[in-house]
Amino acid sequence: MKKMPYKGLQYLKGVGPAKTAQLARLGICTEQDLLEYYPRRYEDRSRLQPISGLVDGTVGTVCGMIADVQERKPRRGLSITKAVVRDVSGDAKIVWFNQPFIKTKISSGIQVIVTGKIKRQFGQIEFTNPEYEIFDGNDLINTGRIVPVYTANDFISQKLLRNLISQVLTAGVDSELETLPPSIIQEYQLLSRGEALANIHFPMDHELLRKARRRLVFEELYTIQCGLAFLKKRNKQAGQGIKYAPDGELVQAVEASLPFALTDDQTRAVAEIKADMEDLTAMQRLLQGDVGSGKTVVAAIVMVKAVENGYQCAMMVPTEILAEQHYHTLGNLLAPHGIKICLLSGRLSRAGRDILLPQINTGNIDIVIGTHALIQDEVNFKRLGLVVTDEQHRFGVKQRSKLQEKGCSPDVLVMTATPIPRTMALTVYGDLDVSTIRQLPPGRKPIRTFLRGAQQRSKIFAFIVSEVAKGRQAYIVCPLIEDSDKVESQSATELYETLTATVFKNISCGLVHGRLKAADKDEVMTAFYRGEIKVLVATTVIEVGVNVPNATIMVIEGADRFGLAQLHQLRGRIGRGGHQAYCILISESKNNETKQRLKIMEKTTDGFILAEEDLKLRGPGHFFGTKQHGLPDLKIADIVRDVDILLEARKAALQTVAAPEYSGYLQTLFKLRFGADFMEVLKS
Ligand code: ADP
Ligand code: MG
Repeated sequence: MKKMPYKGLQYLKGVGPAKTAQLARLGICTEQDLLEYYPRRYEDRSRLQPISGLVDGTVGTVCGMIADVQERKPRRGLSITKAVVRDVSGDAKIVWFNQPFIKTKISSGIQVIVTGKIKRQFGQIEFTNPEYEIFDGNDLINTGRIVPVYTANDFISQKLLRNLISQVLTAGVDSELETLPPSIIQEYQLLSRGEALANIHFPMDHELLRKARRRLVFEELYTIQCGLAFLKKRNKQAGQGIKYAPDGELVQAVEASLPFALTDDQTRAVAEIKADMEDLTAMQRLLQGDVGSGKTVVAAIVMVKAVENGYQCAMMVPTEILAEQHYHTLGNLLAPHGIKICLLSGRLSRAGRDILLPQINTGNIDIVIGTHALIQDEVNFKRLGLVVTDEQHRFGVKQRSKLQEKGCSPDVLVMTATPIPRTMALTVYGDLDVSTIRQLPPGRKPIRTFLRGAQQRSKIFAFIVSEVAKGRQAYIVCPLIEDSDKVESQSATELYETLTATVFKNISCGLVHGRLKAADKDEVMTAFYRGEIKVLVATTVIEVGVNVPNATIMVIEGADRFGLAQLHQLRGRIGRGGHQAYCILISESKNNETKQRLKIMEKTTDGFILAEEDLKLRGPGHFFGTKQHGLPDLKIADIVRDVDILLEARKAALQTVAAPEYSGYLQTLFKLRFGADFMEVLKS
C-alpha cells in the first residue's frame, strides 16, 4: 500500500493563506479532509436539453455557444451581466446579477454548459443567475453531469470546493491507496477506494454513486466494527479471567430470600451472566432492560456470586442519587447475609474516606457502590472480581476500562435502562455480549399517558391536588434547556415559586435542580422518599434511578423538547407501586409532526419500540440527548438508514480480526481513520 504524496492544501491552485484559514473553519486542513468532505446532496445536470425545449419554471441544462456578452452598471453596487447562449434549436438569454468577473471569463464564441432556473415568456427564454462552465474538452465539474453540492459558505463556494476536490482527485494518487483487504473487497463486491472517492464527488452515473456510497459507508462502519471486534477479542484473550465456582450456599440463600420470584427474563439473564462468570474468559456483557424491569436484583445476585468466591465487586453509577438508592436497596437485601457494602460518594468527607479506603484496600468490604469517585487513583481493591456499571451510556469507554483496570481481568457487567435500538447497540456496544430483559415484573398497572395543551394546566394541577389528597405523590418536570444547567434551574425555580404561591399553596412541595448543593438536594430527595414532600418540581436530574413507588403522577412541561427515549426514562420514575400511575405530557407545540411524535408515548410503554422510533425520527445524534453517548462521529454512514451495510461490515470485521494476515491492513485503516495508534483511540 502506497502512501499518498500529499503536500498540503496551500499547493492546490486557488488556495492562498486566506482560503487556507477559511477551509480550516470548515474542518478541512488536508487533502484527506477534502476527499472526505462528502457532498450534502447532488444535482443531476447530466441531461442536456435543446434550448427550444426548455420548460418555464423548471431547472434545465443546455450546452451552447455564447453569442454576446454585455455588462451594465445601472447604479452603484449593482452590476448586470447579460449574455446569449445559442444551440442549433434556438437562443436563450442569460442574466447574472453582481457577478462582474463573469465578463472576464466568457466571451462570444465560447462553448459553455449552463444550468439554472428557466423563465419562458412571450417566446423568450431566460436563465437568471445560472451556474455555468466553460466546455473545453476537460472533465466538467460544475454542470453537464451529476454535480455534487457541498456545505459551502460566503468564503468557500461550491465552485471552489468542486475545483479543489477535483484537483486532489486528478492528482490520481488515491487509486493506489486501498484500506480494505482484497478478499473483503471481493466478497462484499465493493468499489476500490479510489473509484469510490471519485464517484462520491463526481459520479459517472447514479448506479456508481450508489456503489461509491456503499463502499465508503462500509469502510466507515467496518473500521468501527474492527475496533470493537478487536477490543472484544483482546478482552477475551487477556486470557486468564476469573473462573468462578458453581453456586454455593451464599448465592442460594440470597436467591431464596428474595421477596419475589424472578421473571423469566431475569432468570435467563442471571443464568447467562453466571455462565460467563464460571467461564475462564473475562465477561464483557451488557444487561439491557427497560426502566423498572428489575436489573438491580440481577446485579445483586451475580455480585453475591463474586463475593462467595472471595472477590470484591464495584458498582459504578452516574449520579449520587442513584448510588444512594442502590446502596439502600442492596444493603437491605444483602447485609442480612453478612455481606459488607459501602457507599463511596464524592460527597464523603476526608475523614470518611480515610476510614473507607483502607477497608476497601484490605478486602474488608465486599461491595463498593459509587459514582465517578470509584475510578480515582486512591481507590484500590484487594481482589476486584466483578465490575458493574449502571446506565453505562453516561460513562465513556475510558471510564469503564479505568475501573476494570483496578482489578485483574475482572468480569464486567454493563447495565443500561435506555433500550438501545439494535443497530446502535452494535455500534456503541459492539464489543459486548448482550442480555435483554424485556418483560416487566408482574402486577404492574400500565401507566396511562396523556398529551395535553397548556390551556389544560389548571385541570392537571387540580388532578394532582386530588391525588395528593388520596396520599399519592407527583413529579413536575420542567422543560429541557439544552446545555444550560443554569437557565434550566432558574426556570424550575420560577415554576416552583408560582405553584407554591397558588395551586399548591397548601401542599408541601420540593424543588431539585442541577444547581443545588449536594446536601440540599439530598435533603429534598430524602423528604420526598419519606413522603413528607408531596409534589417535587424538578429538572432532568431526576431522570435516572429515582425510586419512589408512592409517586403516581409525572407531569412533563415542554414535552416536545425531549426525545422519546428521554420521556420514556422520565415516565419510568412512576408506576413503581401498586396504584394506577399517570404521565401527562404538556406541549404548546402546534407542529403536527411534533404532536404525532408525542402521541407515540400515549400508545406504547415498550421502551424498545420508543427507542427505534426516536432513532428514526431524530437521528443518532439526539438519541441520548446532549449527554455523552459513546457513539463515534460518522462522516457518511447513517446507522438507521444503513443497517444492511452495518451488518455486512460487522460480519467482515469479525472475519478480519480473526485473520492474522490482516493485521497490517487494520493498522493502516485505523491510522488513516483516527490519525493515531488505534488502541489509543479506542480507549479514549
Ligand atoms: P431497573 O431495571 O430500572 O433497575 P429495578 O431493579 O429498580 O429496575 O426494579 C424495579 C422494581 O421492581 C423494584 O422495586 C424491584 O424490587 C421490583 N422487582 C424487580 N424484580 C421483580 C420481580 N421479579 N417481581 C416483582 N418485583 C420485582
Ligand atoms: Mg436500575
